[in-house]
Amino acid sequence: MIIVSACLLGKKCRYDGKAKLNNRLVKLLKDKEIIPVCPELEGDLPVPRPPAEIIGGNGFDILKGRARIKNREGRDVTDNFIKGVNKVITRVDLKDIRMAILKERSPSCGVNCIYDGSFNGKLKDGCGVFTARLLKEKIPIFSEEETGKLINQGLL
Ligand code: SF4
Repeated sequence: MIIVSACLLGKKCRYDGKAKLNNRLVKLLKDKEIIPVCPELEGDLPVPRPPAEIIGGNGFDILKGRARIKNREGRDVTDNFIKGVNKVITRVDLKDIRMAILKERSPSCGVNCIYDGSFNGKLKDGCGVFTARLLKEKIPIFSEEETGKLINQGLL
C-alpha cells in the first residue's frame, strides 16, 4: 500500500479550495493499492482555509513541541495539524505501508522543503509534520516531484 497526498489525486482539499492533480502520478499509480490522505482535513481544518506555515523549525520540531504552525492570520493551528497526523496514523495499518508520496512544500506533507514561516513565498530545507511522523516510522517518503527517482529505483 502506498499513502498518497489526496490533493495530488484530484481531491479539492488544499487551503485554496483547489486540488493539485498530478496526472503523471495518477497514471503511474493506476494498478497500485493506494491510500489517499489529507492530514489537514483529518485535523478538522476547513476548505478553504488561510495558508499555514511552520514557524521556527520543521515537522520534527513540531512533533517535539519546539515549533508552532500558524496561519496567515496569526492563528495557531498546531493542534489541528497534530490531531490530523495522529488520526491518520491510528487509522492506517502502518505495517502494510511500503512508502508514501506526498505534496512537496506543504507544512503537513512537504518532503524536502517547506515554506519558511515568513509567508513571503520563501522556502527552507525540511519536511512537514505528517512527513516527519511517517519518517519516524521508517516509511520511505518521496515527493510528487521525484517520480523519476521512483521509476529508476523500480518502486513504481
Ligand atoms: S498537501 Fe497534504 S495536507 Fe495539504 S491539501 Fe494536500 S494532502 Fe492535504
